[in-house]
Amino acid sequence: MRITQIREPRIAYFSMEIGLESDVPTYSGGLGVLAGDTLKSSADLGLPMVAVSLLYRKGYFHQELNQDGWQVEYPVEWDPSRHMELMPNSVKVRLEGRDVYLQAWKYEVRGATGSNLPVYFLDTDVEQNHEWDRGLTYHLYGGDEGYRFKQEVILGIGGTRMLQDLGYTVKKYHMNEGHAAMLTLELMQRYRQNIENVWDDREIWNEEPVRDLCVFTTHTPVEAGHDKFSYDLVQKMLGDYFPFDVLHDLAGEDMLNMTTLGLNLSKYHNGVAKKHGIVSQHMFPGYDIRSITNGVHSRTWTHHAFASLYDEFIPNWSNEPELFVRVDNIPDERIWEAHQVAKGELMAEVKSNTGIDLDPNILTIGFARRATPYKRADLLFRDIHKLAEIAGGRLQVVYGGKAHPKDGGGKELIHNIINGARNLSGQIKVVYMQNYEMDLALKIVAGVDLWLNTPLRPREASGTSGMKATHNGVPNFSVLDGWWIEGHIEGVTGWSIGPAPVETNLTENDESADIEDLYAKLEHVVLPLYYAGDNHEGWIKIMKGAIGKNACYFNTHRMMRSYVTEAYIR
Ligand SMILES: *Cc1c(COP(=O)(O)O)cnc(C)c1O
Repeated sequence: MRITQIREPRIAYFSMEIGLESDVPTYSGGLGVLAGDTLKSSADLGLPMVAVSLLYRKGYFHQELNQDGWQVEYPVEWDPSRHMELMPNSVKVRLEGRDVYLQAWKYEVRGATGSNLPVYFLDTDVEQNHEWDRGLTYHLYGGDEGYRFKQEVILGIGGTRMLQDLGYTVKKYHMNEGHAAMLTLELMQRYRQNIENVWDDREIWNEEPVRDLCVFTTHTPVEAGHDKFSYDLVQKMLGDYFPFDVLHDLAGEDMLNMTTLGLNLSKYHNGVAKKHGIVSQHMFPGYDIRSITNGVHSRTWTHHAFASLYDEFIPNWSNEPELFVRVDNIPDERIWEAHQVAKGELMAEVKSNTGIDLDPNILTIGFARRATPYKRADLLFRDIHKLAEIAGGRLQVVYGGKAHPKDGGGKELIHNIINGARNLSGQIKVVYMQNYEMDLALKIVAGVDLWLNTPLRPREASGTSGMKATHNGVPNFSVLDGWWIEGHIEGVTGWSIGPAPVETNLTENDESADIEDLYAKLEHVVLPLYYAGDNHEGWIKIMKGAIGKNACYFNTHRMMRSYVTEAYIR
């Protein structure tokens, strides 16, 4: 039995990773969580959308930290049938001369107003498949180059075929990053002129209808984030699926560059913050690159203590986060109480995760995100003696974040932080929480007093964890990069670290200026304000600034309304 049904035309959202909840481990970090938040807001707003990703039966990985402070990785065991429904449909793609069959699991995102948004997770673990092919959808960002390319074929080509088989009519294809760009080739096949025996004639390949249908979002200026594959590999994997001379024109002369392919075959392109749009425009001259600044799903990223406070004073806040501008209606002491609830829960979580007791009366800084060198998680520790002198006894720090199993630099970072913490013992307590995932992320962003971010400019395309913090009245203390350039008002929504963001390409900048400013503001502005007076008046004013001037804008409801008007209905 096949399910085929005529439905309202939809926007098809393709993403290599989608993070909807902690128990569905189909994401690794910011990109996936953003995709999940995108779909949650779309469901709340009742947008006609359908999404496609891969199933990852072994997840990304479960992280533990050993005695010496090194990350150890374990596969995740989970049962898709507890969260999703297996569809009867089956489609195939041809890889290395073999047919690879795909099935799809349907997850429903329930919107606040009752509409459901289907998300299909593709799965090659089916009996008809060759043993090797059954594992193609096991690991997110695992395996070698060939494994990655096959996954991108499954996502782009397989996903497009699956939507058709499921009976969807698609009015826009949104590629969330280059991983999904193979879908353009499948659409080119669909729209080619119907002339026999001239398959490799340039004339029959018509780009316009494909470009009209496609939207492309780029998410990082970091080179490793843009997949490139040798044409030898492509030839080996795809055979004569697509004529090579045409592919060279569309995807690059020397290598198949997924970003180039996505850019060439979409009419609308965007970066994920205003600055990132400019940086991307420099990286890809000749394309018109716009920007739509990221957001987070307000309800998902608001701690229950704040959610009930908002329910009381700002009714309908979660479906209309603009209403956060009315935050001043909430009495100061209620904000502080809600924050203490979130902080207390975090302290309990720290105890169970690390065995360490933190003190709820001490200023607590949070830093949690993917551990990778450009994020500079250890910047705070560049001068441990100075830090101890400034803040000894008055500061504690909560860290979290996984390093990609092949990111040696990221693993080093985790190790250095844990050892730096040992050197500070007795003066500043530092904990590194194991296995950072969505539930833990909410506990940390809501339970600390201040959210720190110290990326090497201009590599942080947007960043979203700081936006989650603002939903819980936690101000940001960050380098001016990504979204924070737009969100920062000094001493009102939080504080900046280092100089103004002038660079537009990836030159190395002067780290010492960042370090100096970080220590100086911590000593002269942040610590004095936190500990001033008994009623925390000054600090609560900043908390309200974060909610009323940041959370009101940096949410996926506002972001999706922009995608609709800028990208989808054009
Ligand atoms: C929000 C989130 C991220 C993104 O953090 P950034 O600071 O924006 O890089 C990564 N991982 C998880 C689990 C998250 O919830």
